[in-house]
Amino acid sequence: MQYPEWIWHNGAIKRWEDATTHVMAHALHYGSSVFEGIRSYDTFIDGRPNGAAIFRLTDHNTRLYASAKIYDMPMPYSVAEINAACREVIRRNGFSKAYLRPFAFRGLGGFGLSADTPVDMSVAAWLMGPYLGPGVLETGIDACVSSWQRFAPNTIPAGAKAGGNYLSGQLVAREARRLGFGEGIALASTGLLSEGAGENLFLVFDGALHTTPVSAALLNGITRNSIIRLARDAGIEVVERDLPREYLYLCDELFMCGTAAEITPIRSVDGRQIGAGKPGPLTQRIQSLFFGLFDGSTPDKYGWLEPLDA
Ligand code: PMP
Repeated sequence: MQYPEWIWHNGAIKRWEDATTHVMAHALHYGSSVFEGIRSYDTFIDGRPNGAAIFRLTDHNTRLYASAKIYDMPMPYSVAEINAACREVIRRNGFSKAYLRPFAFRGLGGFGLSADTPVDMSVAAWLMGPYLGPGVLETGIDACVSSWQRFAPNTIPAGAKAGGNYLSGQLVAREARRLGFGEGIALASTGLLSEGAGENLFLVFDGALHTTPVSAALLNGITRNSIIRLARDAGIEVVERDLPREYLYLCDELFMCGTAAEITPIRSVDGRQIGAGKPGPLTQRIQSLFFGLFDGSTPDKYGWLEPLDA
């Protein structure tokens, strides 16, 4: 990762080296942070450049608020202020296509689990290619089912995008990499399919998309939601349902999605080839509907492209 020069921190733009926090920050000890991952893209209309846009900026920062609400963390800035900070960080670093990380965390002041430690905020941005490795959007990855399950209901809320949740993601992702796989897929405590370490899942059966429900210990992904809407509007059936593990092996096509992973095809799971072992036709169709939002071939009738210069 190449560090960006400028970071927004507690209301001001600062140099990378000045955006620091104390070793006694509550979040470092207790995982008390919430965050977002957002991408900006160069956009085009009729083949002509139409400036950079941040994909579903307001929806992401609204989810940041929802995550903070779950943990009873008072947010020090409004969604509009955080949106503005996101834009400022991208512009100040001279980026157009970037990955943004708004981050709110309990810092200093009081200590202990129930302390009303004040909430600090930062927004960073950096350049990031395909999250799961170069070329994976075209070739797909080999995945495995993790030996680690996601959180049981009413333990750690999977619906919050909170720092502490990513201890689970680290177990899943690190185990997969250690075993030589591109990514790990976790089961819920029910034994049914949940999601990837940091991505939601779509399985294809008979030309329809099947995705696991929010009750399966997953983050309700904004990419997942975008795919559901794009697919339904294109006349593709989408079913949200509980799915047993073995359906991973039996589906016609399989892909993961997320802001970082975008739409990453999966060509095998636990050594079983999926379909033809390469991105299938519906996966490619979804990729082109999704990336079409940026190259102009999919009209943005949803208002998802929020211009960088607003
Ligand atoms: N699940 C988890 C655990 C994630 O970390 C992410 C990435 N934020 C996703 C799913 C996908 O969510 P989104 O499409 O909103 O990035």
